[in-house]
Amino acid sequence: MDVEQVVEGTIANYALLKEGSKVVVAVSGGKDSTTALYIINKLGYCPEALTIDLGIGDWSRNNLRNISMFCNQNKIHLHIVSVQDELGYTMVDIIKAAEQNLRLKSCTTCGIIRKWLLNKKAREFGFEAIATGHNLDDEAQTIIMNSLSGRFDLNLGLGPKTGTAELQSSGFIPRIKPLYFCPEEEIERYSRSHKFPVLYQKCPYSSGAHRREVRAMLEQIEEARPGTKEKIVTRFTGILAKSKRKNPLRRCKICGEPSSGEICNACKILEVLK
Ligand code: AMP
Ligand code: ZN
Repeated sequence: MDVEQVVEGTIANYALLKEGSKVVVAVSGGKDSTTALYIINKLGYCPEALTIDLGIGDWSRNNLRNISMFCNQNKIHLHIVSVQDELGYTMVDIIKAAEQNLRLKSCTTCGIIRKWLLNKKAREFGFEAIATGHNLDDEAQTIIMNSLSGRFDLNLGLGPKTGTAELQSSGFIPRIKPLYFCPEEEIERYSRSHKFPVLYQKCPYSSGAHRREVRAMLEQIEEARPGTKEKIVTRFTGILAKSKRKNPLRRCKICGEPSSGEICNACKILEVLK
């Protein structure tokens, strides 16, 4: 697969970016977001990068060092936002409190806080879109996971581009997924052949047992029926285009960030730390 060509096609077909769009790539230090940043930059969209320093020991230190080096080499401006500086707690403390008080898994808590900070900071810095490294495997897994837990409604929030005009009026910065149609193994091959300075391991706190199960199941089915993952994602995207979400988001009563309820999930977590 020509990863660059697929990304260029996805950006064009789904109108992810226009010439002159002010885009920031959310980078973790992993192969996917680094590849997304590299290709968006190569295509001439002049992206900046934003990383959330989770403060998870050597894991975060190594990722931060790699991202800084990569952005330096490629002359890309990097914004570093630290969870500890922004919120006054480390991610490890936040994860513990949310586990004890709200029975949330570590990846759920980290994901909520990370997305909340990314949206807030991207808006403050004046970006029009946040690009992430989500790939075809991530999306196929998420569609199946949501469906297996009966939360079909959650799938309405997926797709290569999220954030309608109504959502934007409530402070939501649209998210785009340029690697949407790229299988994970193709991205890994691309990243390795370009010798990107990235960690290929998982986060030491990663807890996603359900995702692991679904991933293994999909791999097994893919082997018996090649093309299954792609079919799930492409057919689903077709359906999604027909049923765009209409109800706008509200603003969280506490922090003012966009939220589907009165109080956003990030504030619910942060409240238990007080
Ligand atoms: P994950 O939920 O870990 O699969 O990450 C999904 C996407 O979120 C990645 O591809 C990145 O674009 C973004 N991301 C993950 N971790 C961070 C981080 N620490 N800082 C900024 N963006 C991140
Ligand atoms: Zn809030």
